[in-house]
Amino acid sequence: MKYSAPKGMQDILPPDIYLWQHIESTARSLFFRYGFQEIKIPIIESTDIFVRSIGAATDIVEKEMYTFQDKAGRSITLRPEGTASAVRGYVEHSLYNLPSPQKFFYSGPMFRYERPQKGRFRQFYQIGVEAFGVSQPSLDAEVIVMLKNILESIGLRDLGFEINSIGDEQCRPNYKRALVDFFGKNLNELCPDCRRRYATNPLRILDCKVEQCIGLRQGAPAVTDYLCGECREHFDELLSMLQSMNIRYTLNPNLVRGLDYYTRTAFEVTSGHLGAQKAVAAGGRYDKLVKEFGGPPTPALGFAIGMERIAALLKEIAPVDSPAPRVFIATLGKEAEIEGFKIAEDLRTIGLWVEPNYGGASLKSQLRKADRLGAEFAFIIGENELKVGKIQWKNLKKGGQGEVEINDLAPFLRGV
Ligand code: ATP
Ligand code: MG
Repeated sequence: MKYSAPKGMQDILPPDIYLWQHIESTARSLFFRYGFQEIKIPIIESTDIFVRSIGAATDIVEKEMYTFQDKAGRSITLRPEGTASAVRGYVEHSLYNLPSPQKFFYSGPMFRYERPQKGRFRQFYQIGVEAFGVSQPSLDAEVIVMLKNILESIGLRDLGFEINSIGDEQCRPNYKRALVDFFGKNLNELCPDCRRRYATNPLRILDCKVEQCIGLRQGAPAVTDYLCGECREHFDELLSMLQSMNIRYTLNPNLVRGLDYYTRTAFEVTSGHLGAQKAVAAGGRYDKLVKEFGGPPTPALGFAIGMERIAALLKEIAPVDSPAPRVFIATLGKEAEIEGFKIAEDLRTIGLWVEPNYGGASLKSQLRKADRLGAEFAFIIGENELKVGKIQWKNLKKGGQGEVEINDLAPFLRGV
């Protein structure tokens, strides 16, 4: 019986894992500077938490959720995204009593039952942030600038920042009516999904990836023409802040995002190098969600970065070096092997990656292994070396060899 990972799920192994670690550690170091603190959230939640927040008439809830019954018959769902849990936690622990804004980040796997393809998995990883308690567009600007800095510090270039405002509960109903009028004329030509969306959630039609629907939305009314005064002002202020910080963006009136909880600001970062699955990060404001979850009215916004897509891009344009042992200790005979282990322990205390020999192999095959591991140095210990308290060293990267006293190994390595 040969096993393989579940469909749409993958193992991340070395050397790719070093891309992932680079992405995560870069993001963490930027989160620190902007005051975003880490939270850990459960991988499952009660199903209604997602239905309520993401929206019953969205692709995620209608088609993509991994929903099960637990042993007590409760309906639980593997999280398809992080915002719902973060908001649930914010309200459950009354974090609204702390000074605003409260800024959090999380990182971990999400699950969506999608058709697996390039850049689209059933288990995929996100790094996400959520910031609560400030309605001013300065928070939107800060979060967008932070996202840009994270992506650039990771090493990505040529990204497109698309931005839109999708209004709020005051102005969006008017816009929905305008869309219904517009698409009503060609209802029968829309794809079956969009015909359903027409009735339940017409904004979603703007997000459809089907060719025929993309054509039909030419000339559709733009949401930004329907914003109420307050939403307009919020959006204009955000755009002028971004301009003053020299952030280049594109206005995209079709950017509506696949979740219902968004209000006002919506944004997406795309790359031209990824083909169809080009969004590497996306986010927006969700000013009504905390109240929906039983908290006091609390404006909020967030984004999520898709790790697989970032890693794929990075691999292509800015590969990350894999670490390798600093030293491989080749030994001949039992006594030398034990000495080798002791030396390895000593050198590990100064923070070095040291690989010992686990017995048996010839010197030649040990040196071949050292090479395959990419070790910088091979130390060689045989009977003679043991007698005189020295090792033979070979620099496998630059060439050269010599002898050093066992007691001087740390200073030797520091000096080369
Ligand atoms: P898409 O339009 O590609 O389906 P989405 O709008 O469903 O994206 P979000 O819910 O906004 O995605 O998630 C934020 C980011 O997470 C996306 O921009 C993408 O990089 C990543 N992402 C979403 N779904 C997947 C998936 N199934 N596999 C890999 N990455 C994903
Ligand atoms: Mg999706």
